[in-house]
Amino acid sequence: MRPDRLNQLFAETGSLKGVGPQLAKPLDKLGLMRVKDLAYHLPDRFVERRAVANLDEASVGENVIVALTPQEYRSSAGRGPFRVLAADAIGNIVGLTYFGRNSGWAKKQLPLGETRWIAGRLDQYGQMLQIVHPDHVSEEGGAALGQLCEPVYPLSEGLTQGRVAALVQQGLAALTDLPEWIEPGLMDRMHWPAWRDALLLAHKSEHREARERLAYDELLANSLALMLVRNANRAQSGTPLKGDGRLRDKLSLPFGLTGAQKRAIGEIEGDLAQQAPMLRLLQGDVGSGKTVVALESMLIAVEGGAQAALLAPTEILARQHHATLMRMAPGTGVEIALLTGRDKGKARESILMGLIDGSIDIVVGTHAIFQEAVSYKNLALVVIDEQHRFGVGQRLMLTQKGRRTPHCLAMTATPIPRTLTLAQYGEMDVSRLDEMPPGRQAIDTRVVAADRIGDVVGALSRHMGGGGQAYWVCPMVRESETDDLAAAEARFSELKARFGEEVVLVHGQLKPELKDAAMERFVRGESKLLVATTVIEVGVDVPNATLMIIEQAERFGLAQLHQLRGRVGRGSEKSVCLLLRGEGLSETARERLALMRETQDGFRLAEEDLRLRGGGELLGTRQSGDTPFRIASLEQIQRLLPLAHDDARLLIDRDGGLTGERGEAARLLLYLFERDWGVQLLRGG
Ligand code: ADP
Ligand code: MG
Repeated sequence: MRPDRLNQLFAETGSLKGVGPQLAKPLDKLGLMRVKDLAYHLPDRFVERRAVANLDEASVGENVIVALTPQEYRSSAGRGPFRVLAADAIGNIVGLTYFGRNSGWAKKQLPLGETRWIAGRLDQYGQMLQIVHPDHVSEEGGAALGQLCEPVYPLSEGLTQGRVAALVQQGLAALTDLPEWIEPGLMDRMHWPAWRDALLLAHKSEHREARERLAYDELLANSLALMLVRNANRAQSGTPLKGDGRLRDKLSLPFGLTGAQKRAIGEIEGDLAQQAPMLRLLQGDVGSGKTVVALESMLIAVEGGAQAALLAPTEILARQHHATLMRMAPGTGVEIALLTGRDKGKARESILMGLIDGSIDIVVGTHAIFQEAVSYKNLALVVIDEQHRFGVGQRLMLTQKGRRTPHCLAMTATPIPRTLTLAQYGEMDVSRLDEMPPGRQAIDTRVVAADRIGDVVGALSRHMGGGGQAYWVCPMVRESETDDLAAAEARFSELKARFGEEVVLVHGQLKPELKDAAMERFVRGESKLLVATTVIEVGVDVPNATLMIIEQAERFGLAQLHQLRGRVGRGSEKSVCLLLRGEGLSETARERLALMRETQDGFRLAEEDLRLRGGGELLGTRQSGDTPFRIASLEQIQRLLPLAHDDARLLIDRDGGLTGERGEAARLLLYLFERDWGVQLLRGG
């Protein structure tokens, strides 16, 4: 239960004075559902103004506050603006200009002959000085001087700066002092203000320490919550699994393992032998060979007398994993089943039976394998492929299956910078596959202007004529964006007109049966060209496909481009990736594409991507591996997260139940940042 002292902060925004239902939508859009959200709605920037005695002291383009006396109203014909000509203290004339039907309002604000304080941006229009739509008009000099530094807030349609500022003030008024959760030594060293002061200061001016403290709070809350998950997991009872190697010895692999693969398997083997359930992340770039690591891990579990499950994010991937495992493991005599949401009737029944009576050793599937109706005889290891599609909450749910908590191995191909790995998987141990299997050729990556699409189709034609297969990817930022889908379908028709029945289309809105049918045709080589949206992003493995064409490449994030490109270069043939770019790209977009050309190291791309985005560019939702933070900027995350992580670990080591003074304060922090599942675990565990 949330502590009472936070109730006022968690009151709904709608309960505030003057907030009617018409504001619900715009507030919702900004994520301002609770009073605390208003206090945390930090300004993007501040307008700095200078108070001047007269306009000779000001320069054009400057934000000023100046006393002016209106002399004359001037309406213009038609749709022209309404102007109030006003004089400063030494007789300079400035036009206060209003567009639209504002004349009545302007006259009321600016009666002739009466001095008013005006805040606004001084511009020049022809020979005349003017201020267009003054920001503030006040009778009192004192009130005007209060506007010297003013926050500029992120807005949504239906809200004005004034409105948001007033709401924020209501949010700030609800703040009470809270006990300190940050370690006192760190507070001193960083010169950070207390929590409530930090919020007040952050809305008043560009206060670096205040912003930093608030960011740190968020990072600390996240680290603490992850650490609590880790602790709760450690306290659980798992099944120690000791493999004797008898199954792994019979494995018929067409290759030797890389050093990185051996190391990862060794680490996993060590974890599995423990009573405490494993919580490990296997991070490895596309093509680094995670599947065989998963297989060896599952075989250890089976050797140890238990069952293992491999969970894939999509139907296609589940089928492919199943096929891969079946190919590698025939000599072992291990029973491997496939279970997805589409399996019905008798086939499904018999798999469910096999899981209960233990005749199935390994099951591969989508989340269907964790539904209520599915029971296991002795499930002791769960492998989750493409971890980033599951949140911490889901991770927790998975481990609730069975009396004993299964060991958990999560695998991700999204190369995440080290700091963000900490933010997202701070509760897990990490194994990195930082070495590619030998014999991979570099993928020849080129950036091509979109108007050369004719040449591209020509190259594609030659490629297919020589027996090669290819991917053609169209951007699909959100699967619901019908324009994107229309564009992909149009491209498909064009290519089909040219290349005939060899072309198939796969996109997210296709019925699963159709999608799989198309995929399977491509995998079997009956189809030579796969036109797709990003559904091919993860996992699909067709070594004969050695040409990848990506349209409007600038619309994808680096991480996504990297994953898409990873679909080719899987066989021994030389592969090519053509990135088609639109016109008028931003500097950052250019740099991104250049990076794709330059390197194929996913971890390097991830670090560079973070660096490029750290320069104040807003986080695009398209980026996979985005941060789970609202307050902390990328720069702050990189600088402060390692600190927060260590601090959280120290606190949990000393006071794992969060019952001491600082511990109690930390609970408040977890609620504030809605990481209270961390607190819930304390009670449960
Ligand atoms: P990912 O990490 O992207 O899941 P996969 O497990 O699909 O990678 O492996 C990519 C390809 O590399 C597969 O065709 C696999 O058989 C092959 N492979 C994996 N490990 C090795 C290795 N040690 N040597 C050679 N090829 C390997
Ligand atoms: Mg994979």
